[in-house]
Amino acid sequence: MQVVRTIADCRTATGAFRSAGETIGLVPTMGFLHAGHMELVATAKSKADRVAVTIFVNPTQFGEASDLDSYPRDEERDLEMLRAAGVDLVLIPDVSDVYPDGDETIVETTRMANILHGEVRPGHFRGVTTVVARLFNFVQPDVACFGEKDYQQLQIIKRMTRDLAFPIEIIGVPIVRENDGLAMSSRNVRLNAEDRQAALVLSRSLDAAEALKNKSVDSLRDTIANTIHAEPRATLRGLDIVQAESLADLAGPLTTPAAIMLSAEFGGVLLLDQRVITP
Ligand code: AMP
Repeated sequence: MQVVRTIADCRTATGAFRSAGETIGLVPTMGFLHAGHMELVATAKSKADRVAVTIFVNPTQFGEASDLDSYPRDEERDLEMLRAAGVDLVLIPDVSDVYPDGDETIVETTRMANILHGEVRPGHFRGVTTVVARLFNFVQPDVACFGEKDYQQLQIIKRMTRDLAFPIEIIGVPIVRENDGLAMSSRNVRLNAEDRQAALVLSRSLDAAEALKNKSVDSLRDTIANTIHAEPRATLRGLDIVQAESLADLAGPLTTPAAIMLSAEFGGVLLLDQRVITP
């Protein structure tokens, strides 16, 4: 496994793959890897000859500096996991390489970035598309894998890839969960024991919504909100029920697949969960 820290070294490595006629699958991450990330790696391996992983805690997608500073990091452990999984190339770029001096270029999906979670976290998705477009350019992969856990992010990246005609297939990978149902996240380690237990309310509320007989946007929303509000340690931050691909508003009885995007805070830690529900 090659570990590179500059764009030039990355290009040398990917150039060698490409001249050998090999395809490249990319998995962008912010590190502190867990089984969710490794599922993306496994998917990339099944779709391409070589797998490249990037580890980059992207400053432009964090609203508050404190959230960026407290983001967990463990490069040595990450590299061990990636080596064990048979990854070919890891790019760990420097902030000054990704955002060179005098940088003034942004990439933004103008509608999708500023609705739903984007309203709660202004600028977040602009930061995501700006960095992913750059990572796509550094690595020039044939396929790239993203988790359905960050559902709006996945749809935004699909739209950006189409709009900018990146010749890259975007693959969405279902959420990997802990045994008790909590969606795996690098942020979970920041939860204290009580909040870790309380956070199960996220997946439980989605189970309750999915089990409803007569599904309407209102019945889904009420079921989820009531379940979350019954947990005193949870502060509901976002509950959106939208058309699964366009993220357009939905109302009334469910007639098309709907994506439920849920976020809540537990002791200052923002957690996400998501489910696509069919009528
Ligand atoms: P992050 O390091 O949090 O930026 O995540 C990197 C990628 O892993 C993103 O595409 C996430 O959607 C994906 N991911 C994170 N957690 C999970 C999970 N529990 N299951 C599947 N994919 C995940």
